[in-house]
Amino acid sequence: MIDVRKFVICFFIILAIHTTFIFPNTLICYRSSILVSNRELSFNKDVAWSHLENYSYYSPIVPNSTNNELFLRYARKYFENIGWRVEFQNWTHSNNAKLHNLIAKSPEKGENVIILGAHYDNRIYADKDPDPQKRTLPVPGINDGGSGTAILLELARVLEIPPSFEVWVVLFDAEDQGGIPGWSGGINGWCIGSTYFVNNLNSTVLSRIKLAIILDIVGGKNLTIQKESYSTPSLIDQIWNVAKSLGMDNIFVDETGISVIDDHLPFIRKGIPAVDIIQQKDQYGFTFFRWHHTTNDTLQNCDKNSLYSVGIVIENFIEKVNVSDIKFEENPTWSFYFIVIFPFTLIFTVYCITRLFFDKDMEIANRRISKSN
Ligand SMILES: [Zn+2]
Repeated sequence: MIDVRKFVICFFIILAIHTTFIFPNTLICYRSSILVSNRELSFNKDVAWSHLENYSYYSPIVPNSTNNELFLRYARKYFENIGWRVEFQNWTHSNNAKLHNLIAKSPEKGENVIILGAHYDNRIYADKDPDPQKRTLPVPGINDGGSGTAILLELARVLEIPPSFEVWVVLFDAEDQGGIPGWSGGINGWCIGSTYFVNNLNSTVLSRIKLAIILDIVGGKNLTIQKESYSTPSLIDQIWNVAKSLGMDNIFVDETGISVIDDHLPFIRKGIPAVDIIQQKDQYGFTFFRWHHTTNDTLQNCDKNSLYSVGIVIENFIEKVNVSDIKFEENPTWSFYFIVIFPFTLIFTVYCITRLFFDKDMEIANRRISKSN
């Protein structure tokens, strides 16, 4: 008969392997002299920095707050001034919070849509603050929320969008509230705005979206960006190649990074190629960066050169984008899971169940035989 203890141990080993693959991380120098193109307009780090400064005036931008409303008003006015069309997605979350995604569409209209996304919300609690007294304060989120947002605002001004394309800049609400009581939905409580956005696209619009680029935590000092593991490999390759051609391979480093639950995941789950440009560890070895989810995520701990590095790479990537080069591939992690882990688990489970019942039947039969003897 099957040993129940062995069965339980095996079950937990398999469960651990599953968990590792499905939820790996639920936490969770630039050269200004490079001639980027012959155009007059290209990404300006001072303009991007001024957006980050403005963002810091509204911060903390927690969901369902006056600061949230005021910041969205600022962003809307800005996009409309540069000729972009602004739409809002407004909805009430399960905890009654009123949430808002801002969608700004480029004046250029084309069949193919590129999504540039960032979350603009700040975490309600600085629960990683070294000072326990400050852990109930909100995170200023100048790097975690502000940096991606500021880069997108400046990109919208300078982007020269290739024919047949249009760009949608989407500022997502409620990415950063995971693990806080009352904040469920999205992906384990994270990515609520981006999940809502993707789930409310009809099939026609979905088929027009060719790729999504998410920027998050890209404003810190001594920025390095590893290749986030859920991101679509061909999209990563192309962006990293552009970075290399601009001499920025010291920032976009050729290293496989961790898997991060972020606003790119809802797109990937719908089969849209997507990448998360995010710092995953800093020079001190901290996950993301030293001040992540603390009250020290402030302007003083950000660097305009980091905004520039990311902005100029994304600008160059989009201006030369060739949609046929980007294919939706299953991420190697997921492929390994579906090809190896899942079938193995299925076979093992069927085997255990069969043995459990079969052995029981055999035992009863044997008992009957020995009794009749
Ligand atoms: Zn965060």
